[in-house]
Amino acid sequence: MWCPRCDQGEVVKAVIGVTDEIVYICEECDALWVDGTCIKKDNFTDFSAYVEPKGLQGLWSELKDILKL
Ligand SMILES: [Zn+2]
Repeated sequence: MWCPRCDQGEVVKAVIGVTDEIVYICEECDALWVDGTCIKKDNFTDFSAYVEPKGLQGLWSELKDILKL
């Protein structure tokens, strides 16, 4: 799926390693959508901001099971 936020990268499905939470994230701009939300331009969260309260830094190495949609 093409990213509706930056229009320059692909949105992939991934799992946050420490929480096993399924998210959708753009490979280019790190826009993140939690599972179950509609992937739209106006409702993304930044990957690093989203995982900071979980004690993560927002690195791609903190994700697993990355799957192209
Ligand atoms: Zn993007």
